[in-house]
Amino acid sequence: MMIGTATSVSVSAWEASASQALKAIARNEKMKSQVQRGEGLYPLLSSAARRFVVGETREEAISEASELLLKGYGVSLECIRENVRDVRDCISAKDEFLAIIRTVGQANLQSTVSLDLSYMGMNMDPQLTYEHLLELAQEAERYGITIMISAEESTKIDQIINIYKRIGEQYANVGITLQAHLHRTLHDYLDIQAYPGKIRIVKGAYQEAADVALPRSEELNERYLDIVEMVAASGRQISIATHDEAIIEKVVKKGYLQQPNVEIEMLYGVRPERLKELKDEGYRTKVYVLYGVEWYLYVCHRLAEHPPNIYKAIEDMANFYAETEKESLY
Ligand code: FAD
Repeated sequence: MMIGTATSVSVSAWEASASQALKAIARNEKMKSQVQRGEGLYPLLSSAARRFVVGETREEAISEASELLLKGYGVSLECIRENVRDVRDCISAKDEFLAIIRTVGQANLQSTVSLDLSYMGMNMDPQLTYEHLLELAQEAERYGITIMISAEESTKIDQIINIYKRIGEQYANVGITLQAHLHRTLHDYLDIQAYPGKIRIVKGAYQEAADVALPRSEELNERYLDIVEMVAASGRQISIATHDEAIIEKVVKKGYLQQPNVEIEMLYGVRPERLKELKDEGYRTKVYVLYGVEWYLYVCHRLAEHPPNIYKAIEDMANFYAETEKESLY
């Protein structure tokens, strides 16, 4: 999920060039392996990563999720994985998601589980991915857990929608993420309208060509709100997944967030203070909690998306050396 990035319209020239540099760092395999092998560097950078990724293990994620649930937030859990090389990787990803579902279910935690179909080999063997998702959906249904399929690059959307529809015919506990920036999304929504699963609406993180998607703009915000209006009015479960204040203000003003089928969902570590305010005002809020060892790309992109986060990363690293106890962001 969310590996790509997009630049806010309001960033300064400095921020734009920092953002470009971070995207280059994110793509640099040599740098990534230096970080992962560097004995001094790894713990330092992982202390900065902890703002966005709760830990490397499932246990750490479940522990953070339990605390968030106790505080009154909803939670989505995802294990960050990277490139799938062979069928063994697909099975290992499926097994990890199965383990999350069972752990969450047996602990009676009301958490959603999110995943990319690419983690389970969609590009290599869509039938195998379908079978894996079916197995996960079946297990999740036993515990009343919702699975959310993440959105990926535009070239993968046909396959994602196909698999979603095959599963949606059998399981209502599987939902899908739609990207407002893609020109095709309205058509996709109409295509899946008859299926019962929840819909998460995001702007879209991947860089796409102009004939495929809108850049960050007023026009994109209007389109985002049009989709929210349409889905919220249908009465189905909907997650408004954004950190954009302009959109948040409008969904509150228009009363969507007051509807029982609507929640607002933000990524762990991004605008936690705003999500807390919304929760304290009584709205349904959800935190998207990520864990895993493959955090490098994800964290670089969270910094690139909002370069002032670099200051926070420096602060987190300084606190790591000062051995300052990490305070909860929520
Ligand atoms: P933007 O226009 O990008 O940002 C608006 C404002 O929000 C910024 O000006 C800034 O004030 C604030 N902000 C944004 N990002 C940050 C940040 N990192 N740190 C601090 N402030 C920030 N994308 C996909 O392509 N596929 C997915 O499956 C997917 N799933 C997601 C699930 C959730 C729950 C969320 C919240 C996002 C998901 N995304 C996914 C990412 C999404 O597409 C956007 O890239 C991301 O949310 C940033 O867009 P925005 O709506 O916040 O608006």
